[in-house]
Amino acid sequence: MTAEIIDGKAFAARVRAGVGHQVGLLRTRHGLTPGLSVVLVGEDPASQVYVRNKGKAAAEAGVVSDEIRLPEDVEAEAVLEVVRRLNRDPAVHGILVQLPLPDHIDEAQVIDAIDPAKDVDGFHVINTGRLAIGLEAMVPCTPLGCLMMLKDRLGDLSGSRALVVGRSNIVGKPMASLLLAQHCTVTIAHSRTLDLAGECGRADILIAAVGRPRMIEGAWIKPGATVIDVGINRIDAGGGKTRLAGDVEFEVAVEIAGAITPVPGGVGPMTIACLLANTVTAACRQAGFPVPETA
Ligand code: NDP
Repeated sequence: MTAEIIDGKAFAARVRAGVGHQVGLLRTRHGLTPGLSVVLVGEDPASQVYVRNKGKAAAEAGVVSDEIRLPEDVEAEAVLEVVRRLNRDPAVHGILVQLPLPDHIDEAQVIDAIDPAKDVDGFHVINTGRLAIGLEAMVPCTPLGCLMMLKDRLGDLSGSRALVVGRSNIVGKPMASLLLAQHCTVTIAHSRTLDLAGECGRADILIAAVGRPRMIEGAWIKPGATVIDVGINRIDAGGGKTRLAGDVEFEVAVEIAGAITPVPGGVGPMTIACLLANTVTAACRQAGFPVPETA
């Protein structure tokens, strides 16, 4: 059996188009234009690429976005002051502080300063807690994208055995909360899990979010399972070149799974699409409008 390859690039393009449509409706019907502000501290090259891509995708979807750049040696208080100003600005519906921040700035303190209603990354402790107890929340973009892909392929997830490998606050834990809310039977594995192969073999849905290239062996996967590979790892491709690889041994897994996301081109593109969807969600909630289906 050869698995269906879940095309995250095409899916993300559909989500972005849906967001663009909703933004158009909000503007013409209600005069509301969703606004996103991204705060970037320092010169980290990867962060600069992410922020540039976010700005480009926002513009394409009709979301007004601006970028606030602060120097690497900025004082923590100055970052907090920027966040407080954005909290007060009614034209800003979503605030994203690009992580990681320089070592001298306490990331948790900065995230906690963001108005939870504008926390489009879903990292604020209020949103984390609300998600965990099943209340309406801003949901972290990467797990939200994973859930959208799962529901698109499988429809009702109720009763499925789901394994999340990784327990980080930005992927593993929120992913597990989302799957639990969909009535899956959820297992979370981590570095102390004793029989990872056995856990994988029981999972109808397998989410790999570890950050170790190809550590989930293809032969561990339950035949027909849906595999979502969140890992992004740069590996040696020979000849002095590198390439991206996921956490799953793709070439073997693709012969056993029912469906699988590739790396690159799977989960990655969904993250920015979900950021835009979250910005529309935040704008609608702040204005007291119903949240549209695609967002
Ligand atoms: P973290 O490093 O924060 O978490 C990794 C998790 O993997 C930890 O919970 C750790 O367990 C667990 N782990 C480590 N080794 C093993 C092992 N041998 N067996 C089982 N579990 C193990 O990573 P993130 O969650 O931030 O990211 C995970 C991956 O997803 C990375 O490759 C990252 O680049 C990628 N990513 C991709 C995104 C995207 O596509 N847009 C967005 C975010 C992340 P323990 O807690 O015990 O240490």
